[in-house]
Amino acid sequence: MTTSPEPASGQSPGPPAPDVDVLVVGAGITGIYQLYRAREAGFSVQLVEAGDGVGGTWYWNRYPGARFDSESYTYAFLFSRELFDEWEWQEHFAGQPEIERYLNHVVDRFDLRRHMRFGAKVTSATYDEPSGTWRVVTGDGGEVRTRVLVAATGVLSVPYFPDVPGREDFRGESYHTGLWPTTPVDFAGKRVAVIGTGSSGVQLIPVIAGEVASLTVYQRTANWCTPLNNAPIAPDEQAKLRADFDAMCETLNTSPAGFLHGAHDRATYDDPEEERLAFFEQMWNSPGFSKLISHYTDLMVDPAANAEWCEFLAGKVRGIVRDPATAEKLIPKDHRFAEKRPPFVHGYYEAFNLPDVMLVDLKETPILRVTPSGIETAEGIREFDIVVWATGFDFGTGALLRMGIRGRDGLALADDWADGPRTFLGVQTAGFPNLFFPGGPHAAAGNNPRYNGDQVDFVTETIVYVRDHGYDTVEVGREAQERWTSMVDRNASKSNFGEISYYFGTNIPGKPRKYLLNSGGRPKLFAMIAEVLQSDYAAFRMSRSSDRSTDRSTDRSTDLTGTSA
Ligand SMILES: Cc1cc2nc3c(=O)[nH]c(=O)nc-3n(C[C@H](O)[C@H](O)[C@H](O)COP(=O)(O)OP(=O)(O)OC[C@H]3O[C@@H](n4cnc5c(N)ncnc54)[C@H](O)[C@@H]3O)c2cc1C
Repeated sequence: MTTSPEPASGQSPGPPAPDVDVLVVGAGITGIYQLYRAREAGFSVQLVEAGDGVGGTWYWNRYPGARFDSESYTYAFLFSRELFDEWEWQEHFAGQPEIERYLNHVVDRFDLRRHMRFGAKVTSATYDEPSGTWRVVTGDGGEVRTRVLVAATGVLSVPYFPDVPGREDFRGESYHTGLWPTTPVDFAGKRVAVIGTGSSGVQLIPVIAGEVASLTVYQRTANWCTPLNNAPIAPDEQAKLRADFDAMCETLNTSPAGFLHGAHDRATYDDPEEERLAFFEQMWNSPGFSKLISHYTDLMVDPAANAEWCEFLAGKVRGIVRDPATAEKLIPKDHRFAEKRPPFVHGYYEAFNLPDVMLVDLKETPILRVTPSGIETAEGIREFDIVVWATGFDFGTGALLRMGIRGRDGLALADDWADGPRTFLGVQTAGFPNLFFPGGPHAAAGNNPRYNGDQVDFVTETIVYVRDHGYDTVEVGREAQERWTSMVDRNASKSNFGEISYYFGTNIPGKPRKYLLNSGGRPKLFAMIAEVLQSDYAAFRMSRSSDRSTDRSTDRSTDLTGTSA
């Protein structure tokens, strides 16, 4: 990765020189880490971000109740012991304000802000073959020519609004949870509708339920919600976290899903019924994702075991929600536990016991239209002051396909991926040299920063390798890409998540039904990265500008011998 020299006077100008070695798009946790790593590796770096501040998900999703489902200290950056020691998380599962403060602290602590430009949405990124650079145009009128383009644009960063007639006609206040304004919304005494009961809706609903004049919840699909079981971090726990830092990193850096929760050692029917129920109760009272990771080992593979846990959960809902008809509507009937991403809650089911909280089941009475003053279903019209769309995101590929990316020979990424993404390791795609997208489609599932961080580490190692070997472009070969992509597609049916899940793009009309996570998980990613390094990047094609002018690129992609994928 060398910057092209200025032409000597009298010579015809060579290909345009890049302004920077690396341009990162997105100031979420992945982009911040990529900026840090690339700068530490000696590259000149800039970062552009569509929003007006740092945080990505934690900048946009500032709705009341937004908080982690990952334990705060396991989500945090682990690259600096000093950083870990100096930031005291207040809660095991921090709320959005604390997370946003933390990410801003990191940016300032490592002097990263001066490399960042906000309010700069990338509208096009075009690869220029002769110079081996990307020309990136932003909506604020900016243009940057970069050698390497890292799109850390997130998998949950394009909010989705269902196509409901009249949505634009509503004259009250209207919000999407993923585009929440920076000035607080005043819910006091208002008639509020919340559409959607996924992870965001179920966080918001209990927080505003006691404040509003009335709350109507429009539910398309009931979810298996279980308690988050959050708590403040006590002083002795703070001390233990610090004392155990190295052991914690070891666990997080090797755990398949990037969590501290350990696997259980028993299957459901190893225990007699009484012990099973006691264990279910223990799970109900355990924190966050331990309900998946530390549950009976056969929970996700034995339908009878899963059904028994679901029956236990249904009993909990019936025990909490006083109105039996409402309780039945809140109990999923169309999917097993963890077939969709299970939300974690605090006081969600209890909210339906408040006098002015109502549930509308959209399977029985779909929304016909939004009117200027409310929402009409087959039941009639309800009038509202505020409508909140908690209707999710265009997961996985949403942001990348909206960036106007064009690679070799003008190939549009949106066309190339018309039938679904094709990647190698979820970081590169053939035909788009020097473009990387850590934290994008085909990343693993679990605690995001851990596996997105693995990908950033790999991207950084790769561009250092390219630079140190005197090349300036790198592009994965098609063979390696097809093998990785077929592994993802082939194993999709083995995933816990079913096609009902947004992880298959099912929530977006017309989107190809492709699994958008890496179904091999982190272990497959680690195995494949090891193979890439061992084979000296045999799966990649590298070139330098002098070679490109004479077509002598080093194409070693046919040499790939690995079999891990
Ligand atoms: C409400 C909510 C709660 C979540 N909770 C958890 C959790 O507890 N644990 C967990 O592991 N994960 C959680 N997630 C997933 C979360 O998205 C990831 O943890 C993490 O934020 C991903 O970071 P990122 O930097 O890859 O992407 P993001 O945080 O999404 O950041 C991407 C950034 O790229 C910017 N961008 C996109 N396109 C462009 C463009 N064309 N030009 C310029 N900028 C652009 C966006 O504006 C955004 O700021 C949650 C997601 C949501 C929505």
